[in-house]
Amino acid sequence: MTQAAPGYTGDATGEHMVRAAMTQRNAKLVFWGVRGSTPTIERNTWRYGGNTPCLELTAPDGSRFILDCGTGLRMLGNSLRQAAHGQDAEPGRETIEAHILVTHYHWDHIQGIPFFHPFFESRNRFHFYSFQSKVLGPNSLRQVLEAQLSSPYFPVDLSTMSAARSFREVGGGETWEVRSTRITTAWLNHPQGCLGYRLDTAMGSVVYATDNEPGVAETDRNLLGLARGADVLIYDAQYSPEQLASTRKGWGHSSWLEGVRIAREAKVANLVLFHHDPDSSSTVVDGFLSAARQEFPATWAAMEGMAMHLSERGVDVVLPGSRLGQRRRLRLGATVSGTNEDGGTFQERATVRDLSLQGAYLCLGNRPRLQSELTVEMDAAGQEGRPGALSLRALVVHCEPGGEKDHNGVGVVFIEDGEAESAQM
Ligand SMILES: [Zn+2]
Ligand SMILES: [Zn+2]
Repeated sequence: MTQAAPGYTGDATGEHMVRAAMTQRNAKLVFWGVRGSTPTIERNTWRYGGNTPCLELTAPDGSRFILDCGTGLRMLGNSLRQAAHGQDAEPGRETIEAHILVTHYHWDHIQGIPFFHPFFESRNRFHFYSFQSKVLGPNSLRQVLEAQLSSPYFPVDLSTMSAARSFREVGGGETWEVRSTRITTAWLNHPQGCLGYRLDTAMGSVVYATDNEPGVAETDRNLLGLARGADVLIYDAQYSPEQLASTRKGWGHSSWLEGVRIAREAKVANLVLFHHDPDSSSTVVDGFLSAARQEFPATWAAMEGMAMHLSERGVDVVLPGSRLGQRRRLRLGATVSGTNEDGGTFQERATVRDLSLQGAYLCLGNRPRLQSELTVEMDAAGQEGRPGALSLRALVVHCEPGGEKDHNGVGVVFIEDGEAESAQM
């Protein structure tokens, strides 16, 4: 299920389509932000990503939907702009239009708004949908936008947001259509309220149900109805089942185990664990995913840059290229063991063709200056027509007298260069 769709090139974030007016054979869902509550930048959260909720769904008829405006929205904006304008980023050659569905007004779902460049270009058009907050009253979403760009919280005011905007207030249980996509809403159980959205496109259905705590009969029923038979259910899995039953009860979130229960009962095809806790390292999310897969094999953990293509063939998942380091081509023999798609295990001899490199620890007689550049040449088997040594540029980040006499322990991180980038294709 991880193979790319036909004709697909590049990773999820690289292959952007403003060819919105065109029709395509599939619906494409891209995850731009998957973290709950607050963005994270800790290294141990990078693998799944640190931006807060933002998803993009492009329907087969080209209509574009944006689900939530967390900090992931900034990257989506840059990607749309690049696709519309090319590298030179000259403003305003192609119109960007999208329907923006906001689940609720907690910071993690709106904080990307001031940093979405397409809002600040007059030829773009956006249609916003959300509910009337009890606290804010009529025009809640418009007020939220104004507050996001107001003094003393932001340097420029709403008048700079020149894109055309329309607002529609919706409640739970509503249905409407945008061209050939039907949208349905349901109330979820979350402090100050939250809407779940279902989008039925011509090539499959996506249900976005984040920020929900199970255990209230009415909203549990709502969710089940919304999710029934969906191709993709994106569900709040912030906590472990143990946390949900104890210290985090009443916080408005859920667990992978609840996701599995709903996925089974609603007979969805794919479950995506979402809204990862800011304190969950990638390893913790790995653990939730593997536990969930034991119970419901078609489970995925939402990852920044991940794309899901919905077509007549079902759902293909494409994971982003690693952001963790540059890759180097080489040829090294290795024995590889793992698990197949059918759940069976395997072991085989293989050739490692590239390696992602972060840095190294060296023992040197010299004492290089901190933040100076080194070249590190390592012995490797090489490739036909290429030198055998693995040559890397590196930056010194640590230097202290080391364990060996008259030697220094030198820590370096490797520097990206042109060759490393081309090797990532
Ligand atoms: Zn949230
Ligand atoms: Zn929330």
